[in-house]
Amino acid sequence: MSMPTNEQIKNSLWNAFANNGLTLFPKAQKEDLLVAIQIGLSRIRETSKFYAWDSSCANKDHKCKRGCIIREGDIYFKYITGIGWGQYLKICAGCMAMILYYMKAYELPDPKL
Ligand SMILES: [Zn+2]
Repeated sequence: MSMPTNEQIKNSLWNAFANNGLTLFPKAQKEDLLVAIQIGLSRIRETSKFYAWDSSCANKDHKCKRGCIIREGDIYFKYITGIGWGQYLKICAGCMAMILYYMKAYELPDPKL
């Protein structure tokens, strides 16, 4: 897969949250949408120190911080909030796409290697 353009990343982020699951639109779990989210996250990390969000595959159903259901097998995003077991802030792919869209991650440069 070739690197998506900024315009394609913008469209993918939009589709991943605004049209997530709607008829005729792919779900946020579709590969090219997840790729756009990962690219957006890497750019945000580089420029604004948007902390250490990691992606993870759900081994059971979880609940997103914003109330969405994260299904077993879905890719979601987590951020460690404490030292105890399970102290994570969990965000589903659609909500992460929304955050990245409104932070305009698609306009940011790629991280330097
Ligand atoms: Zn969510």
